[in-house]
Amino acid sequence: NVRVRFAPSPTGPLHIGGVRTALFNYLYAKKHGGTFVLRIEDTDQKRYVPGAEDYIAESLEWCGIPYDEGPGKDGGFGPYRQSERKEKYYAFAKALLDSGHAYYAFDTAEKLDFHRKDHEAKGKTFIYNWHNRLKLDNSLVLSAEETQKRLDAGDDYVVRFKMPQDEKLHLKDEIRGDIYIDTNILDDKVLFKSDGMPTYHLANIVDDHLMKITHVIRGEEWLPSLALHELLYRAFNWEAPKFAHLPLILKPVGKGKLSKRDGDKMGFPVFPLQWNDPKTNEVSAGYREDGYFAEAVVNMLAFLGWNPGTEQEIFSLEELTEAFELSRVNKGGAKFDPEKTKWFQQQYMQHTDDAIIADDFIALLTEKDVDTTTELATTVVKMIKERAVFVEDLWTLGSFFFVAPVTFDEKASKKAWKEDTARIMEEVTIILKNVSNFTTINIQTAVKEWIVAQELSFGKVMQPFRLSLVGAMQGPDVFEIATTIGKEETLKRLEYAIA
Ligand code: GLU
Repeated sequence: NVRVRFAPSPTGPLHIGGVRTALFNYLYAKKHGGTFVLRIEDTDQKRYVPGAEDYIAESLEWCGIPYDEGPGKDGGFGPYRQSERKEKYYAFAKALLDSGHAYYAFDTAEKLDFHRKDHEAKGKTFIYNWHNRLKLDNSLVLSAEETQKRLDAGDDYVVRFKMPQDEKLHLKDEIRGDIYIDTNILDDKVLFKSDGMPTYHLANIVDDHLMKITHVIRGEEWLPSLALHELLYRAFNWEAPKFAHLPLILKPVGKGKLSKRDGDKMGFPVFPLQWNDPKTNEVSAGYREDGYFAEAVVNMLAFLGWNPGTEQEIFSLEELTEAFELSRVNKGGAKFDPEKTKWFQQQYMQHTDDAIIADDFIALLTEKDVDTTTELATTVVKMIKERAVFVEDLWTLGSFFFVAPVTFDEKASKKAWKEDTARIMEEVTIILKNVSNFTTINIQTAVKEWIVAQELSFGKVMQPFRLSLVGAMQGPDVFEIATTIGKEETLKRLEYAIA
């Protein structure tokens, strides 16, 4: 029974890298009929940001990948916020202390700092583990009695993992395959602190175990912790889940991880939803507010580090679920491409049902206080979406369908509106008035026959006709525009242009 989890820390808005991690977990769970758990890792209260947890849940909801189990959705493994599980962790730290896999340490920050700097000065890295401590400074390793004395005195302590010495670990990653690590290069990480709080490492392993997680799918930045995590499972005598570390998401240009600054510089969001920072009042752009369809964003994210091995690029969530394999996730970093994101958006704009897009368009029109009907909005979507990427573009390209032009494009007027144009347009008005069944084909036939009979050039009539209806030289077929806005409105616009 597959159980995966997404375990963000609520320290700010969820970066799209986090959403990608959530998505891959979701896809893996759905593909295997498993459960997708959301666990909030909020043990570091100093970094807690109010609103971040709601933001995470709302982001998953918007993307269409809601969690099955988590805060507010108890599946029998709750609570799902680590701050609410606080009292569980000490016993596990204690078990490791008792079995000799962990020890108390009382080093002052100054002492650690001294050793770090001392090593740096000699061009070495300070690897903090008990065997190095012994070599360095005997006073760092305390006897059982000394330890008890310090504890009785109420001194601040940390519980550290006792990293095995001289061991070559053989680790496995579902994406990276075999990994070999020498334990001598690993630190004795802090597991628990005297303030009663576990660190990430302890809480994460304990919870994955208690929540019966079978697969840990997370970002590559956690790969360096894999050895410690495997060793923790071993120390507890628990079966470890399978691990899969997803490739980094890289900047569109240059080297390194994608950051918010890249987005700011190049004008694209790195967050799914707009984020209003409660501390700085800074507002960061989000894909939702920028007009992207969630389906397009999800499709784009799926391709950041995964590919189906075929030419197909457009995938619905169901198709992704079907096609997704951890074995097809790349090892190398995935370059983020804002242009490709736009391309996905454009594809979804073109291939989504007109009626569905019309719903969004109507919402936009309502916001702008523009009256419309579902029928008109849908017709307009059908006529102009070919050139649109965002719903907002439909307004830019087609506002004239809903609001009559008041002014006319100057350059176009100069070109299209000549001395005799008013007279010609008056005659066109009469022709149109006489078309009783105002269909595109009927008015087209009537106007064209008249143009031919008058021996006029098409441009001489059609350009000012378009200008009168649209206010500029843009838009789809003029006759279609006329029938879409209707006879009465067409005549009204012609009369306004003439006067
Ligand atoms: N809380 C960690 C994070 O913020 C979770 C890492 C993991 O999935 O183990 O990414």
